[in-house]
Amino acid sequence: MSCRGVCNRYKPEWEAGKPRYTDNSCRCTVCETWLDTIKGTTNFRCNCCNGKVRVLARTGRYRRIRRQ
Ligand SMILES: [Zn+2]
Ligand SMILES: [Zn+2]
Repeated sequence: MSCRGVCNRYKPEWEAGKPRYTDNSCRCTVCETWLDTIKGTTNFRCNCCNGKVRVLARTGRYRRIRRQ
C-alpha cells in the first residue's frame, strides 16, 4: 500500500475555519491527507492507496476490527 498520488483529487472542500472531522471527511494516514469519504474512499479504504482511513469516531458507526 502506498500513495499513488491521486488522493489530491479526493480532498474535501472545506471552508476556512470549519471543523475538520465531519461525516464527509476522513484521514488517510498512508497518504497523509484528508479525503472526502464519498468520493475518495470505498468501504473505509482510500481510493488512492487502498489503505484504511480514519473516520470520525461515532457510536454505532465506527467499528474497530482487530486481528491477532
Ligand atoms: Zn494518496
Ligand atoms: Zn491513501
